[in-house]
Amino acid sequence: MSDPKAANESPSTPFGRLAPSPTGGLHLGHARTFLIAWLAARSRGGRVVLRIEDLDASRVRPEARQGALDDLAWLGLDWDEGPDVGGPFAPYVQSERLERYAAALEVLKSREAVYPCSCTRAEIQRAASAPHPEDEGPSYPGTCSGRSAVDAQRLGDRPFAWRFRVPAGELDWQDLYQGPVAIDPGRVGGDFLVARNGVGPAYQLAVVVDDAAMAINQVIRGADLVTSTPRQILLYRALGLTSPDFGHVPLAISPDGRRLAKRDGSLKLATLRDAGVDPRRLIGSLAVSCGWTEAVMPSTPRDWLDRFDIGRIPAAPWVVTPRWLESLTNGPL
Ligand code: GLU
Repeated sequence: MSDPKAANESPSTPFGRLAPSPTGGLHLGHARTFLIAWLAARSRGGRVVLRIEDLDASRVRPEARQGALDDLAWLGLDWDEGPDVGGPFAPYVQSERLERYAAALEVLKSREAVYPCSCTRAEIQRAASAPHPEDEGPSYPGTCSGRSAVDAQRLGDRPFAWRFRVPAGELDWQDLYQGPVAIDPGRVGGDFLVARNGVGPAYQLAVVVDDAAMAINQVIRGADLVTSTPRQILLYRALGLTSPDFGHVPLAISPDGRRLAKRDGSLKLATLRDAGVDPRRLIGSLAVSCGWTEAVMPSTPRDWLDRFDIGRIPAAPWVVTPRWLESLTNGPL
């Protein structure tokens, strides 16, 4: 597999991406993370790709795909490539890219980087979605790790998944937000799933194949995905691809400490839009939450290009209080 980045623009030009999953409306946490990801690329003259991550058929809602585009456009974010505008690396919808993931899986098999695993685990069912902290179970004990790729032929009709053989030791990277990070993927989940035989790829494989194929060199996402990064670095290496820079920014939480969930309607961007919230006021409030200013100024994402500073974002999770929500419509400016 060739590295498309080599043939593209200078590595110093950021190629960022917004990668929503159309499983429900985007909420305020997405708005903040996507604003940061967008600014991290645009403030350095970079490009932005919009990719729809719709591999988890059990969770995808058809109307949510257009909804995600509408929500992002309402915020004032734009993109140079995406399902609606096309681009050199189309298609930009994961369910239309299955043959690419299958080809990458063949490479991993040929390199004995993966083995067939027939353990019955709920995790296998969930692998198409990005794992959030509550999804991280105990490390896989390695029950099937003695197998090699050809052993799949002897499994007959038994359902199985392909698991990546995680080598011992920590992986480290210079996180664009968190600084030096070192995680031992053997201790966080262990050998991880890359595909379900006959069903499709896991999130980890699809995201690496796509980020590499779309020449993404800067991945900014929520801190909940930090434990996916060592797995993805291993996949980049196993496929002979260059890893992007990663930055994991603090999450949005509700006052009771829970990660914002798509099921909480009041925090959805569509709800705010329907309630008449001015997106410029929301962007201004998000900029305050990110430490770029002290007073809310109605603004568009572009207004923050010069003042964007990822280092100023407070390290603590951003607590979305009812009062803050109220201030979007009623509070003093
Ligand atoms: N589509 C994933 C999600 O919405 C994000 C994946 C990523 O940024 O790597 O959780």
